[in-house]
Amino acid sequence: MNCKSVCAAAFLFLGTVLNAGHPAQAQASSPQARLSVHWEELTGPDFVQAIKRAQNTCLLPFGILEKHGPHMPIGSDLFNARYAALHAAEQQYAVVFPEYYFGQISEARHEPGTVAYSRDLQLALLQATTDEMARNGCKKILIVNGHGGNVSLLPYFAQSQLDKPHDYVVYIFNQRTPTTGGPKKKTTIDEHAGESETSKMMIVRPDLLHMDRATSESGADQHRLNLPPGVYTGIWWYARFPDHYAGDGSAATHELGEYQMKWWVDSVVKAIAAVKADDESLKLQNEFYEKSTHPLDTPQ
Ligand SMILES: [Zn+2]
Repeated sequence: MNCKSVCAAAFLFLGTVLNAGHPAQAQASSPQARLSVHWEELTGPDFVQAIKRAQNTCLLPFGILEKHGPHMPIGSDLFNARYAALHAAEQQYAVVFPEYYFGQISEARHEPGTVAYSRDLQLALLQATTDEMARNGCKKILIVNGHGGNVSLLPYFAQSQLDKPHDYVVYIFNQRTPTTGGPKKKTTIDEHAGESETSKMMIVRPDLLHMDRATSESGADQHRLNLPPGVYTGIWWYARFPDHYAGDGSAATHELGEYQMKWWVDSVVKAIAAVKADDESLKLQNEFYEKSTHPLDTPQ
């Protein structure tokens, strides 16, 4: 069977799909954009130029593989974090590390498709990754977090960089959703796979959303623990939202997604600029590492 016209259409479609979320390719005609922001798209010689142009600043968008309600893809956090990081790097040049989704997600191990690496491996892999990034010139590494379950892991990782000398600085950007402004929200519980996150996915990969299924499970808080504020235990999330759905994704709108994604991208742009301008952190780290080798000499 002659597939010429069918194949041409299929390739055209594939090309459109592959180009989605690849802003560098869309702007290939401008000389400023000749260097891709994607680490893996650069040639060796171009990588050297890219690190220079980025002023040694690199982004590590951090996702996860985890159920997102009945209607969103398992890779939602990865898609959203990469979209924000890639679009921000286009405006404020930085080199963006490839897909990374090896974070903390033990609480979703009962759901299909979850990939939960062990605690030791999460830390070891993240350290090896930032070490390798730094060996390749990324002396300022901004982790753009897309996953709520990483909120303890990432500050711990950054803090524990003080345990021994590193010739680079780890920064964390951990915001995804503006607290005020934009189109009025309809829901009060708006967390995992809820109104905001679903709205953002409408901008990033609308083709992967199944809005007709958004009400097929409940995202209500089940309140199954009764502990006073200040007492923490690891099963808290499972106690409240065992179906990995917290809110109501059916309330999502394109307008809210546009507002929130623009806010996220703008915020990462500002964070990159601040990181580039920060000459103090590495200086202070080095001073600290040196002093920590002889604490008895530190003035008391
Ligand atoms: Zn998510």
